Amino acid sequence: MEVPRSAFVTKRPSIRILACVKCEVKITVENIGRVSDVDGLTVNGAHCKSCAEEVVQELKEGRFCENYRGKVIYCKDDKFFPEWFCLFYFRTIEHCRAFIDAKLKELEELQETLEYWKEKS
Ligand SMILES: [Zn+2]
Repeated sequence: MEVPRSAFVTKRPSIRILACVKCEVKITVENIGRVSDVDGLTVNGAHCKSCAEEVVQELKEGRFCENYRGKVIYCKDDKFFPEWFCLFYFRTIEHCRAFIDAKLKELEELQETLEYWKEKS
């Protein structure tokens, strides 16, 4: 059986301890970090908390497409995501922008409704 890249083999061959794939620090319950890609998929390998933050930051920079009306659009494999950790995507950036437009319009209308209620009460 192949030993995963991110595992330390201890003196006892049957025991393996996870290690960070970047800095090789041993992973514990306290320092374990999670690296989720724009589409929610986990990036391979175990990461400690501080390396996980770095990796996510690098991913975000690499996937950055444009800032549209205060929202960041990310791109991965020609798929356009209206936010980070998004379980759906658009085939074109135009559709992604249209989605953001619709969401912002919804928020505006909700705000108007709230103000209307405030005035009435
Ligand atoms: Zn690390």
